Amino acid sequence: MMKEIVEPLLQWYAENKRILPWRMDKEPFHVWVSEIMLQQTRIEAVMHYYARFMEALPDVQSLSSIDDDALLKLWEGLGYYSRARNLKKAAQIIIKDYRGMFPSTFEELRKLPGIGEYTAGAIASICFNEPVPAVDGNVLRVISRITGSCENVLLPVTKKKVTEQLLQIMPDSPGDFNEALMELGETVCLPNTAPACGECPLSGSCTAYREHLTELLPIRIKKTKRRRENLTVFILTAPDGSIALDKRKDPGLLSGMYQFPNIKGYYSEEELYLTLDNWNLNPVQIEFIRETKHVFTHIDWMMKGFRVQVNNKPERFIWVSPEELKSDYPLPAAFQKMLP
Ligand code: SF4
Repeated sequence: MMKEIVEPLLQWYAENKRILPWRMDKEPFHVWVSEIMLQQTRIEAVMHYYARFMEALPDVQSLSSIDDDALLKLWEGLGYYSRARNLKKAAQIIIKDYRGMFPSTFEELRKLPGIGEYTAGAIASICFNEPVPAVDGNVLRVISRITGSCENVLLPVTKKKVTEQLLQIMPDSPGDFNEALMELGETVCLPNTAPACGECPLSGSCTAYREHLTELLPIRIKKTKRRRENLTVFILTAPDGSIALDKRKDPGLLSGMYQFPNIKGYYSEEELYLTLDNWNLNPVQIEFIRETKHVFTHIDWMMKGFRVQVNNKPERFIWVSPEELKSDYPLPAAFQKMLP
Protein backbone atom coordinates (compact mmCIF):
# COMPACT_ATOMS: atom_id res chain seq x y z
CA MET A 1 0.00 0.00 0.00
CA MET A 2 2.82 2.41 0.88
CA LYS A 3 4.47 1.92 -2.50
CA GLU A 4 1.50 3.47 -4.28
CA ILE A 5 1.96 6.86 -2.61
CA VAL A 6 5.32 7.54 -4.32
CA GLU A 7 4.30 8.58 -7.84
CA PRO A 8 1.23 10.72 -6.98
CA LEU A 9 3.22 12.41 -4.22
CA LEU A 10 6.17 13.28 -6.47
CA GLN A 11 3.86 14.56 -9.19
CA TRP A 12 1.89 16.67 -6.73
CA TYR A 13 5.15 18.11 -5.36
CA ALA A 14 6.46 19.00 -8.81
CA GLU A 15 3.28 20.97 -9.47
CA ASN A 16 2.63 22.48 -6.06
CA LYS A 17 5.89 23.07 -4.21
CA ARG A 18 6.30 26.50 -2.69
CA ILE A 19 9.12 28.72 -3.86
CA LEU A 20 11.35 29.10 -0.81
CA PRO A 21 14.72 30.87 -0.68
CA TRP A 22 16.59 27.75 0.47
CA ARG A 23 15.11 25.70 -2.37
CA MET A 24 16.73 27.87 -5.04
CA ASP A 25 19.75 25.58 -5.11
CA LYS A 26 20.84 22.41 -3.37
CA GLU A 27 23.70 24.07 -1.58
CA PRO A 28 24.26 22.15 1.70
CA PHE A 29 25.00 25.32 3.67
CA HIS A 30 21.62 26.78 2.68
CA VAL A 31 19.69 23.59 3.35
CA TRP A 32 21.45 23.10 6.68
CA VAL A 33 20.84 26.60 8.06
CA SER A 34 17.20 26.60 6.90
CA GLU A 35 16.53 23.17 8.42
CA ILE A 36 18.01 24.21 11.76
CA MET A 37 15.99 27.44 11.76
CA LEU A 38 12.81 25.57 10.86
CA GLN A 39 13.07 23.31 13.92
CA GLN A 40 10.32 24.49 16.27
CA THR A 41 9.69 27.56 14.09
CA ARG A 42 7.15 28.27 11.35
CA ILE A 43 8.26 28.96 7.77
CA GLU A 44 6.77 32.48 7.70
CA ALA A 45 8.78 33.41 10.79
CA VAL A 46 11.99 31.91 9.40
CA MET A 47 11.96 33.75 6.04
CA HIS A 48 13.17 37.07 7.43
CA TYR A 49 15.76 35.48 9.73
CA TYR A 50 17.10 33.31 6.94
CA ALA A 51 17.60 36.27 4.57
CA ARG A 52 19.34 38.31 7.27
CA PHE A 53 21.52 35.39 8.33
CA MET A 54 22.66 34.66 4.76
CA GLU A 55 23.46 38.28 4.15
CA ALA A 56 25.69 38.41 7.24
CA LEU A 57 27.08 34.86 7.00
CA PRO A 58 27.00 33.60 3.42
CA ASP A 59 29.17 30.50 3.96
CA VAL A 60 30.67 28.02 6.42
CA GLN A 61 33.85 30.08 6.71
CA SER A 62 32.07 33.26 7.86
CA LEU A 63 29.85 31.29 10.26
CA SER A 64 32.85 29.55 11.82
CA SER A 65 34.54 32.82 12.74
CA ILE A 66 31.65 35.06 13.81
CA ASP A 67 31.73 36.58 17.28
CA ASP A 68 29.30 34.82 19.68
CA ASP A 69 27.32 37.94 20.54
CA ALA A 70 26.88 38.89 16.89
CA LEU A 71 25.68 35.36 16.16
CA LEU A 72 23.15 35.43 18.96
CA LYS A 73 21.99 38.85 17.79
CA LEU A 74 21.23 37.35 14.37
CA TRP A 75 19.26 34.62 16.15
CA GLU A 76 17.50 36.94 18.62
CA GLY A 77 13.79 36.13 18.81
CA LEU A 78 14.05 32.70 17.17
CA GLY A 79 14.53 31.00 20.55
CA TYR A 80 16.30 27.73 21.33
CA TYR A 81 19.66 29.51 21.13
CA SER A 82 21.69 26.34 21.43
CA ARG A 83 20.79 25.86 17.75
CA ALA A 84 22.87 28.92 16.83
CA ARG A 85 25.79 27.84 19.01
CA ASN A 86 25.77 24.38 17.47
CA LEU A 87 25.74 25.86 13.96
CA LYS A 88 28.94 27.71 14.75
CA LYS A 89 30.56 24.69 16.42
CA ALA A 90 29.69 22.51 13.43
CA ALA A 91 31.04 25.13 11.00
CA GLN A 92 34.34 25.16 12.92
CA ILE A 93 34.55 21.36 12.66
CA ILE A 94 33.81 21.48 8.91
CA ILE A 95 36.63 24.00 8.43
CA LYS A 96 39.09 22.12 10.62
CA ASP A 97 38.35 18.45 9.95
CA TYR A 98 36.83 18.54 6.45
CA ARG A 99 38.94 21.36 4.94
CA GLY A 100 35.81 23.47 4.51
CA MET A 101 34.00 20.84 2.39
CA PHE A 102 30.55 19.93 3.67
CA PRO A 103 30.37 16.24 4.74
CA SER A 104 28.30 14.44 2.13
CA THR A 105 26.95 11.32 3.83
CA PHE A 106 24.27 10.73 6.45
CA GLU A 107 26.80 9.06 8.77
CA GLU A 108 29.30 11.94 8.62
CA LEU A 109 26.64 14.63 8.91
CA ARG A 110 25.18 12.92 11.97
CA LYS A 111 28.49 13.44 13.82
CA LEU A 112 28.21 17.24 13.68
CA PRO A 113 26.80 19.11 16.70
CA GLY A 114 23.12 19.99 16.37
CA ILE A 115 22.56 17.63 13.44
CA GLY A 116 20.17 14.84 14.37
CA GLU A 117 18.78 12.04 12.24
CA TYR A 118 16.16 14.22 10.61
CA THR A 119 18.53 17.03 9.58
CA ALA A 120 21.22 14.59 8.44
CA GLY A 121 18.59 12.79 6.35
CA ALA A 122 17.34 16.04 4.85
CA ILE A 123 20.82 17.30 3.87
CA ALA A 124 22.07 13.90 2.64
CA SER A 125 18.99 13.28 0.49
CA ILE A 126 18.38 16.81 -0.84
CA CYS A 127 21.99 17.82 -1.49
CA PHE A 128 23.76 14.50 -2.09
CA ASN A 129 20.95 12.25 -3.37
CA GLU A 130 21.52 9.65 -0.63
CA PRO A 131 18.47 7.38 -0.30
CA VAL A 132 17.74 8.04 3.39
CA PRO A 133 14.45 9.21 4.91
CA ALA A 134 14.09 12.48 6.85
CA VAL A 135 11.39 11.94 9.44
CA ASP A 136 10.07 14.97 11.30
CA GLY A 137 6.70 15.65 12.94
CA ASN A 138 5.08 16.42 9.59
CA VAL A 139 6.21 13.16 8.06
CA LEU A 140 5.15 11.15 11.12
CA ARG A 141 1.69 12.69 10.93
CA VAL A 142 1.26 11.98 7.21
CA ILE A 143 2.47 8.38 7.44
CA SER A 144 0.45 7.65 10.60
CA ARG A 145 -2.68 8.82 8.83
CA ILE A 146 -1.94 6.96 5.61
CA THR A 147 -1.25 3.68 7.40
CA GLY A 148 -3.91 4.26 10.06
CA SER A 149 -1.28 3.66 12.76
CA CYS A 150 -2.39 4.08 16.38
CA GLU A 151 1.16 4.10 17.72
CA ASN A 152 2.36 7.07 19.76
CA VAL A 153 4.37 9.27 17.37
CA LEU A 154 6.29 10.80 20.26
CA LEU A 155 8.06 7.49 20.94
CA PRO A 156 11.43 6.81 19.25
CA VAL A 157 10.28 3.30 18.35
CA THR A 158 7.46 4.73 16.19
CA LYS A 159 9.90 7.02 14.42
CA LYS A 160 12.20 4.10 13.76
CA LYS A 161 9.36 2.07 12.29
CA VAL A 162 8.28 4.93 9.99
CA THR A 163 11.91 5.41 8.90
CA GLU A 164 12.11 1.73 7.94
CA GLN A 165 8.80 1.88 6.05
CA LEU A 166 10.02 4.88 4.06
CA LEU A 167 13.39 3.31 3.37
CA GLN A 168 11.63 0.46 1.60
CA ILE A 169 9.79 2.71 -0.84
CA MET A 170 12.51 5.33 -1.37
CA PRO A 171 12.56 6.33 -5.06
CA ASP A 172 15.52 7.50 -7.20
CA SER A 173 14.87 11.10 -6.17
CA PRO A 174 15.10 10.82 -2.36
CA GLY A 175 15.44 14.57 -1.80
CA ASP A 176 12.24 15.38 -3.69
CA PHE A 177 10.42 12.52 -1.99
CA ASN A 178 11.40 13.67 1.51
CA GLU A 179 10.59 17.28 0.74
CA ALA A 180 7.27 16.29 -0.81
CA LEU A 181 6.21 14.44 2.35
CA MET A 182 7.18 17.42 4.53
CA GLU A 183 5.43 19.82 2.18
CA LEU A 184 2.26 17.74 2.22
CA GLY A 185 2.34 17.76 6.03
CA GLU A 186 2.86 21.52 6.12
CA THR A 187 0.26 22.55 3.57
CA VAL A 188 -2.39 19.79 3.22
CA CYS A 189 -2.21 17.12 5.91
CA LEU A 190 -2.30 19.75 8.64
CA PRO A 191 -1.93 19.34 12.42
CA ASN A 192 -4.41 20.69 15.00
CA THR A 193 -7.11 21.19 12.40
CA ALA A 194 -8.97 19.15 9.81
CA PRO A 195 -6.56 18.12 7.02
CA ALA A 196 -7.50 19.23 3.50
CA CYS A 197 -8.14 15.66 2.29
CA GLY A 198 -10.11 16.93 -0.70
CA GLU A 199 -6.89 18.42 -2.10
CA CYS A 200 -4.63 15.54 -1.14
CA PRO A 201 -2.99 13.43 -3.86
CA LEU A 202 -2.84 10.49 -1.43
CA SER A 203 -6.48 10.30 -0.37
CA GLY A 204 -6.97 7.13 -2.43
CA SER A 205 -4.34 5.32 -0.34
CA CYS A 206 -5.12 6.89 3.03
CA THR A 207 -6.56 4.75 5.82
CA ALA A 208 -7.40 7.70 8.08
CA TYR A 209 -9.37 9.35 5.29
CA ARG A 210 -11.21 6.17 4.36
CA GLU A 211 -12.07 5.26 7.94
CA HIS A 212 -12.80 8.81 9.20
CA LEU A 213 -9.86 8.81 11.62
CA THR A 214 -8.17 12.04 10.51
CA GLU A 215 -9.07 13.90 13.69
CA LEU A 216 -7.86 11.05 15.88
CA LEU A 217 -4.48 10.45 14.22
CA PRO A 218 -1.64 10.81 14.85
CA ILE A 219 -1.63 9.67 18.46
CA ARG A 220 0.54 11.93 20.62
CA ILE A 221 0.95 11.05 24.29
CA LYS A 222 3.32 13.28 26.21
CA LYS A 223 5.19 12.00 29.21
CA THR A 224 6.80 15.09 30.64
CA LYS A 225 5.11 17.35 33.14
CA ARG A 226 5.41 21.10 32.74
CA ARG A 227 7.11 23.07 35.50
CA ARG A 228 6.14 26.57 36.64
CA GLU A 229 8.74 29.03 37.82
CA ASN A 230 8.04 32.49 39.27
CA LEU A 231 10.55 35.18 38.33
CA THR A 232 10.99 38.81 39.38
CA VAL A 233 12.67 40.91 36.71
CA PHE A 234 14.24 44.34 37.14
CA ILE A 235 14.65 47.02 34.50
CA LEU A 236 17.30 49.05 36.31
CA THR A 237 17.60 52.53 34.79
CA ALA A 238 20.40 54.99 35.64
CA PRO A 239 20.05 58.81 35.43
CA ASP A 240 21.79 58.86 32.01
CA GLY A 241 19.10 56.52 30.63
CA SER A 242 21.33 53.44 30.50
CA ILE A 243 19.84 50.07 31.43
CA ALA A 244 21.47 47.22 33.36
CA LEU A 245 22.06 43.82 31.81
CA ASP A 246 23.89 40.75 33.00
CA LYS A 247 24.72 37.41 31.46
CA ARG A 248 23.05 34.17 32.46
CA LYS A 249 25.65 31.97 34.09
CA ASP A 250 23.63 28.86 34.88
CA PRO A 251 24.13 26.05 32.43
CA GLY A 252 20.89 25.10 30.72
CA LEU A 253 18.05 27.40 29.84
CA LEU A 254 19.25 30.49 27.88
CA SER A 255 22.79 29.88 29.08
CA GLY A 256 25.23 32.67 28.15
CA MET A 257 22.46 35.02 26.95
CA TYR A 258 22.07 38.61 28.13
CA GLN A 259 19.16 39.25 30.44
CA PHE A 260 17.63 41.86 32.70
CA PRO A 261 18.74 41.18 36.29
CA ASN A 262 16.23 38.87 37.92
CA ILE A 263 15.61 36.60 40.88
CA LYS A 264 13.59 33.46 41.24
CA GLY A 265 10.29 33.87 43.09
CA TYR A 266 7.90 36.73 43.94
CA TYR A 267 8.77 39.18 46.74
CA SER A 268 7.30 41.85 49.05
CA GLU A 269 8.35 45.48 48.53
CA GLU A 270 10.67 45.23 51.51
CA GLU A 271 12.36 42.16 50.07
CA LEU A 272 12.77 43.89 46.71
CA TYR A 273 14.61 46.77 48.41
CA LEU A 274 16.78 44.26 50.24
CA THR A 275 17.76 42.57 46.96
CA LEU A 276 18.64 45.91 45.37
CA ASP A 277 20.69 46.75 48.42
CA ASN A 278 22.57 43.44 48.13
CA TRP A 279 23.42 44.42 44.56
CA ASN A 280 24.84 47.76 45.88
CA LEU A 281 22.19 49.77 44.08
CA ASN A 282 20.67 53.04 45.32
CA PRO A 283 17.04 52.88 44.20
CA VAL A 284 15.13 56.15 43.86
CA GLN A 285 11.83 54.78 42.64
CA ILE A 286 10.31 51.34 42.05
CA GLU A 287 7.41 50.95 39.69
CA PHE A 288 5.54 47.76 38.76
CA ILE A 289 5.56 47.23 34.97
CA ARG A 290 3.56 44.11 34.22
CA GLU A 291 2.99 40.45 34.86
CA THR A 292 3.57 38.16 31.91
CA LYS A 293 4.16 34.53 31.02
CA HIS A 294 6.78 32.96 28.78
CA VAL A 295 6.47 29.36 27.65
CA PHE A 296 9.55 27.20 27.08
CA THR A 297 9.51 23.50 26.19
CA HIS A 298 9.22 22.18 29.76
CA ILE A 299 8.98 25.32 31.87
CA ASP A 300 6.56 28.22 32.09
CA TRP A 301 8.08 31.41 33.47
CA MET A 302 5.55 33.53 35.35
CA MET A 303 7.29 36.91 35.31
CA LYS A 304 6.67 40.09 37.29
CA GLY A 305 8.60 43.11 36.04
CA PHE A 306 9.66 46.25 37.94
CA ARG A 307 11.25 49.39 36.60
CA VAL A 308 13.74 50.76 39.13
CA GLN A 309 15.29 54.21 38.85
CA VAL A 310 18.73 54.10 40.47
CA ASN A 311 21.30 56.83 40.97
CA ASN A 312 24.45 54.72 40.72
CA LYS A 313 25.87 52.17 38.27
CA PRO A 314 27.62 49.29 40.07
CA GLU A 315 30.14 47.46 37.91
CA ARG A 316 28.55 44.07 38.49
CA PHE A 317 26.13 44.99 35.68
CA ILE A 318 26.65 45.88 32.02
CA TRP A 319 25.11 49.31 31.47
CA VAL A 320 23.88 49.93 27.94
CA SER A 321 21.90 52.67 26.20
CA PRO A 322 18.44 51.75 24.81
CA GLU A 323 19.95 52.05 21.28
CA GLU A 324 22.79 49.64 22.13
CA LEU A 325 20.30 47.27 23.70
CA LYS A 326 18.40 47.20 20.43
CA SER A 327 21.36 46.82 18.12
CA ASP A 328 24.15 44.97 19.97
CA TYR A 329 22.78 42.79 22.76
CA PRO A 330 20.82 39.64 21.99
CA LEU A 331 17.96 39.59 24.45
CA PRO A 332 15.75 36.48 24.73
CA ALA A 333 12.08 36.98 23.85
CA ALA A 334 11.09 36.29 27.49
CA PHE A 335 12.84 39.49 28.63
CA GLN A 336 11.76 41.55 25.65
CA LYS A 337 8.25 41.22 27.01
CA MET A 338 9.27 43.64 29.76
CA LEU A 339 10.19 46.40 27.29
CA PRO A 340 7.69 49.18 26.62
S1 SF4 B 1 -6.02 12.06 2.76
FE1 SF4 B 1 -6.12 13.56 4.38
S2 SF4 B 1 -5.37 12.49 6.18
FE2 SF4 B 1 -4.77 11.28 4.41
S3 SF4 B 1 -2.69 11.97 3.93
FE3 SF4 B 1 -4.11 13.18 2.69
S4 SF4 B 1 -4.55 15.02 3.89
FE4 SF4 B 1 -3.61 13.53 5.25
